[in-house]
Amino acid sequence: MSKRITILGSTGSIGTNTLDVTSALGPAYRVVGLGARRRWRELAEQARSVRPPAVAIADPSLAGELRAVLNKDTELLVGPEGLVELARRPEADFIVAAIVGAAGLPSTVAAVEAGKQVGLANKEALVVAGSLIVPLARRTGATLLPIDSEHSAVFQAMAAGRREEVRKIYLTASGGPFRTWSAEDIAKATLQDALRHPTWSMGPKITIDSATMMNKALEIIEARWLFDLDPDSIEVLVHPESIIHSMVEFRDGSVIAQLGTPDMRTPIQYAMTYPQRLEGCARRLDFSTLRRLNFEPPDPARFPALTLGYEVARAGGTAGAVMNAANEAAVEAFREEKIGFPDIVELTAQVVARHKVVQDPDLETLLAADAWAREQVAGITKQR
Ligand code: NAD
Ligand code: MG
Repeated sequence: MSKRITILGSTGSIGTNTLDVTSALGPAYRVVGLGARRRWRELAEQARSVRPPAVAIADPSLAGELRAVLNKDTELLVGPEGLVELARRPEADFIVAAIVGAAGLPSTVAAVEAGKQVGLANKEALVVAGSLIVPLARRTGATLLPIDSEHSAVFQAMAAGRREEVRKIYLTASGGPFRTWSAEDIAKATLQDALRHPTWSMGPKITIDSATMMNKALEIIEARWLFDLDPDSIEVLVHPESIIHSMVEFRDGSVIAQLGTPDMRTPIQYAMTYPQRLEGCARRLDFSTLRRLNFEPPDPARFPALTLGYEVARAGGTAGAVMNAANEAAVEAFREEKIGFPDIVELTAQVVARHKVVQDPDLETLLAADAWAREQVAGITKQR
């Protein structure tokens, strides 16, 4: 029997890598749903090649154009509700949650509600609502399989021992394009500078998050929910080569690492084929040319997002939703050249500081906190 896969965010970096993997894996992995926001031409092209029974487009104004070029027997679902419906449909067993940002939350929650296997790239969904998604998955029997490379590595390394034998985890970080830059130079960084990631090729939002290291802050919270860890047992370690994707230290002192070339197709495939390992399509590590692996502690003075990430992880409740939304809005403002690079984290921290955390929030409270944080960023940006 084949595994039937729906890709939410199919036109993005993770989405297209997922299609690469499914085509390399052959007919045992069949794509039965594709969803994206606006890029209808690419979406139609993908639909022509994999012929899924259903396709969803989030922006309703583009439904007409898409309909006109889609195969007649492909069902078209429209609007954000269309993506939610696509995530729920019975023909898929496995949902790849690869929409960027909190915009992916409703469809990710829908997939978990429907008890699917969920390959999770959309880390923002867990940062906002991990406190709801994790218990929900337990109730519905949904499984959350990490696609984020660090969390895939931790997941794989965790298999070397029992949960209660884990002492801590190391999340590795490339350090981003500004790892070696002085604070003065970082303060003047342009959009172009921030989009030049040294080791990974990814969508623009996560690339900017990597430059501020907010990506690692989000990943601390993601790991906290995926592996039920105390934030203090999560250590960030800068490793510029991005070969060790993360590590788990057990109580006997053994450290288990997962290594590979920096290619998202490896963790995407592992999530889909788990618990099996099938032939992979990424370039192999070559230890005859790999001379050394470097490590350094992160520098919270130049990258204050890390400290903020720990604070927010410890605070819990609505704090994650606020930090995530403020960061999304600030990244947007930076991309529109309304604010400077260091303002991204500064604004985010300012909004988090203004927020009064609500514990045990329901979804409505989390969405309200998200909306509030975005308004705060808009207000502060306008004043400047
Ligand atoms: P991307 O910008 O390349 O693609 C985003 C996708 O989401 C597109 O298909 C777009 O159509 C869709 N989308 C965006 N806004 C939407 C909306 N409002 N409604 C519906 N669909 C919408 O992003 P990406 O780099 O592929 O990242 C996707 C997710 O995976 C992010 O959460 C990111 O943090 C995570 N992730 C990405 C990588 C990577 O290598 N790219 C690695 C680890 C984790
Ligand atoms: Mg990552």
